[in-house]
Amino acid sequence: MTREEAVKFAEHAVNITGISEVKEFYRMAAVALTPPTQEQVEKVWRGEWINTNNEVEQMCKCSKCGYPISYFWSRTQFCPNCGAPMTDEAVGMVMERWEELHG
Ligand SMILES: [Zn+2]
Repeated sequence: MTREEAVKFAEHAVNITGISEVKEFYRMAAVALTPPTQEQVEKVWRGEWINTNNEVEQMCKCSKCGYPISYFWSRTQFCPNCGAPMTDEAVGMVMERWEELHG
């Protein structure tokens, strides 16, 4: 059984049982087995470089962990400290990685 088939099975099973605990179990299983959408990845994991614009050297910091980085080095795809994806491309790479791990 593939993950997709397991999700379909769990979603179908919710409707064919009358036992509320079993319904709840299949509902939770379907949610746990469903990969995150691009929107969810963006909302939960995506960070951005915030320009803190301090004194002499322009600095940025990661919106997720506050890691400071020089503005000139802040074009990285991922935060070097917490690994948050910072660009559309990086979010895409996270989605691909997830599919590889769980697909
Ligand atoms: Zn970070």
